Amino acid sequence: MKPIIEIKDLKVIYNEGKANEYAALRGESLDIYPEEYIILFGPSGCGKSTLLYSILGILAPTGGKLLIKGDDVYKYSSDEMVKFQQNVIGIIYQSFNLIPSLSVLDNVSLPLIFSGMSPADRERKGMALLKRFAIDQQAKKLSTNMSGGQMQRIAVARSLINDPEILLADEPVGNLDSVSSAEVMDTLEEINIKDKKTIILVTHDAKFIPYAHRVYFMKDGGVEREVVNPEKKQIKSVAPGTTILTEIEKLARIYPYISIDELRVKSIANYLVEELGFEQLETVEKLVEMMIRGTVTKERFIAALMAPFSRGGLEFTHDKAQKMLEKTENILNLAREVRQYRERLQEKYNSPKQLERIKNLRNEIIRECVFEISGMQIKWLDENIASRVAGFISMEDFRERLSLVAEKKGGGFSPRQAQAISRYLEKFIAQGVHL
Ligand code: ADP
Repeated sequence: MKPIIEIKDLKVIYNEGKANEYAALRGESLDIYPEEYIILFGPSGCGKSTLLYSILGILAPTGGKLLIKGDDVYKYSSDEMVKFQQNVIGIIYQSFNLIPSLSVLDNVSLPLIFSGMSPADRERKGMALLKRFAIDQQAKKLSTNMSGGQMQRIAVARSLINDPEILLADEPVGNLDSVSSAEVMDTLEEINIKDKKTIILVTHDAKFIPYAHRVYFMKDGGVEREVVNPEKKQIKSVAPGTTILTEIEKLARIYPYISIDELRVKSIANYLVEELGFEQLETVEKLVEMMIRGTVTKERFIAALMAPFSRGGLEFTHDKAQKMLEKTENILNLAREVRQYRERLQEKYNSPKQLERIKNLRNEIIRECVFEISGMQIKWLDENIASRVAGFISMEDFRERLSLVAEKKGGGFSPRQAQAISRYLEKFIAQGVHL
């Protein structure tokens, strides 16, 4: 499948050559596939809207490549550009951009004026969309008398009137209360899933990230990283060995501006302090960080955990401190094996070394999470751990399969065991992953 939008090294410089010259995009690269829901996420001023307007065909790039359905739209004649903006691409804005002197229905059907359609047909088509978004009762009223949520739904209806393939949304719920926001966000999701439109949504609000298939995190005029939403079935193929659906990616959604190394620390620390209080997290995080960096000895690690509260310690017994050290070491060692496994995924057949790595993971998982296990279950674990580590199945699929019965190709573990196994395995994957 080919991307519907291809962007490579895109540059946009405002006021080029003048004293107030400003490079808003400094070499952006991304690709978007048909029917994807993409979020451009980043702080205010990072260039999200600039990118959106370039895609819309109203802001010519200064350099780089921007192809939509294989075409450089900035080479279009003015007729071709009108067709593109009518039939290929639609947009909704934060401020709705409705025409106050027109009725709701006329606002929605206005773009059809250029289509040659009869007024009666235009009205019919407009009404159908108003009905769909539950604003048909308001059709004859002026759009100025509507609530924010209604106005945005009118704008959504208008953006769909020409049935474009791509829908752009620039902070579409930025002006709405939380109930209206959720309505509009759900509407956009429905348009993505049911109408199969490609959606590119700009936001600086992390809570909308779960709607997208993929998120481009932007910073200072560039894409800082691309994150795949592990909860959505992907449209762009996820190459084995490159992107993986991990806990780290989930954490990255919760703490979007934290570096990968900090996320790794969080992932282990959250696991270790499960039985402890939240206030102890910081101490554990610090120690795990030092452990990952190799700047603390085992003795110091244990001593720090055993130290009295007054000196920032946790007053652990030696036994308990020793256990935490072992857990941390285990996770880091096995994570190394996961990383090595993934780096060698391209090998055609599983080498003995690769099988050994999976066996080590499996043994550790059994030791920690399951006490009795059948030969069948061991074989099942080996196959399924390998698929999960390689990223061929998602965390959710793996977890679900664990507790299915053998006839349904499941592992036959109890729900409690399934949860423990899955959580523990994700720990190694999280630590072993490169983003
Ligand atoms: P975002 O949508 O992420 O908030 P924008 O794309 O709107 O960011 O803007 C990126 C940067 O470009 C900002 O620093 C902004 O001030 C600047 N900028 C935007 N539009 C113009 C313009 N027409 N002229 C000069 N600078 C602009």
